[in-house]
Amino acid sequence: MAARILNGNAIRDQIYAELAGEIASLAGAGIRPGLAAVLVGDNPASKLYVNSKIGACAKLGLASFLVTPPASISTNELLGAVAELNGRDEVDGILVQMPLPRQVDAKKILDAVDPAKDVDGFHPVNVGKLVAGRPNLVACTPAGVMEILRRSDIPLEGANAVVMGRSDIVGKPMAILLLHANATVTICHSKTRDLEETVRRADLVVAAMGRAAMVTPGYIRPGATVIDVGQNVIKDAAEAERIFANFPEKLQSFRTKGSVLVGDVHPDVVNTAGAFTPVPGGVGPLTIAMLMSNTVKAARMRRGVRAPLAQASRS
Ligand code: NAP
Repeated sequence: MAARILNGNAIRDQIYAELAGEIASLAGAGIRPGLAAVLVGDNPASKLYVNSKIGACAKLGLASFLVTPPASISTNELLGAVAELNGRDEVDGILVQMPLPRQVDAKKILDAVDPAKDVDGFHPVNVGKLVAGRPNLVACTPAGVMEILRRSDIPLEGANAVVMGRSDIVGKPMAILLLHANATVTICHSKTRDLEETVRRADLVVAAMGRAAMVTPGYIRPGATVIDVGQNVIKDAAEAERIFANFPEKLQSFRTKGSVLVGDVHPDVVNTAGAFTPVPGGVGPLTIAMLMSNTVKAARMRRGVRAPLAQASRS
C-alpha cells in the first residue's frame, strides 16, 4: 500500500495563516517585524534562496532588508556589516546566506550575529539553549520537520528515531528536538557501521545526508515514517533513469528540463513507508516558514510581547 504523503506545502500554508494573525496583532501595537538578509557575491543558488526568503517576507507583510556585499569582502568588513545590522532596531532577524567566499571566516561571522536576532538558530548561545531544553530560536529545517510531525499526529514518545546526518544545521538539532519529544534517538553518519540494519529498526527516519536516493526500501521498516530533508539536483540521464524507473512522469519532466530534484530517500520507498515527505513539497517549504516564524518570534521577544497560543506551540 502506498504511504501517506505528508504535504509540506499545506502545513506551510497553515503556519502562514497563523503568522498572518500574529503579524496583524503586532501591527496593532505598532510593531512590524523585519528580516535582514546578507547575500555575499553572486552565487546563483544563494540568490535564489535569498529571493524566496525576501518574497516570503513580502507575502506576509514583514519588512525585509537586503545587504549585498561583493564576493571580495574580507572577514572584518563583513563583521562590520553584521554589527551594523545588530544595532538597527527595525531589524529583528539577521540571516547570513551560506556558503561564504573562501577568504571569509564563516564561524566568526555567525558568532557575531546577535543571538536575539539569530533567526537561523546557528549561534552557539541558541544551540546551547536548545540542548539545555530552553529552546529559543531553533534552526529552521529541523524545527520545520517537528511541525510536520506534530501537525500530522506522528507519535514520537518512545519511538525509535534514526537521524541520518550529523551536521550543525540539520542532523544535530534534529536529534535534540526528537530527544526532547521523548523519542529514542540514534544519530548515524558516514562512519556508522551496519547503517542499513540500524535504520531498519526505526519507527521514524530523518534522512539529511545530501546523498541522492541513497535510502532504498531495504532501509525502511514497513510502515515507518520517513522524512526526507535531502535536496539533490540530478543532471545525469542514466542516474535519473535508474532512480525514477517506476516514475515515468518524473522521467518525462527530466527529459524536458534536463534536471530533476531528488531527496536522500529513493522514490520507491513510497511502497514501504507508512508516511513520507515528498521532494519537492515536503520539508523544503517548512524551512522558509520557520524562518518567518522565527523572525516574528524574535520581534516579539526583543520587545517583551507575549506569544499567542499558536506561536507558543511552535518549536
Ligand atoms: P552536510 O553538512 O553535508 O552533512 C551531511 C551529513 O550526512 C554528515 O553528517 C555526513 O556524515 C552524513 N553522511 C554523508 N554521507 C553519508 C553516508 N553515505 N552514510 C551516512 N551518513 C552520511 O549536509 P546538510 O547541510 O546537513 O544537508 C543535508 C541535506 O539536506 C542536503 O541534501 C541539503 O541540500 C539538504 N538540506 C535541505 C534543506 C531544506 O530546506 N529542505 C535545508 C538544509 C539542508 P559525516 O559527518 O561523517 O561526514
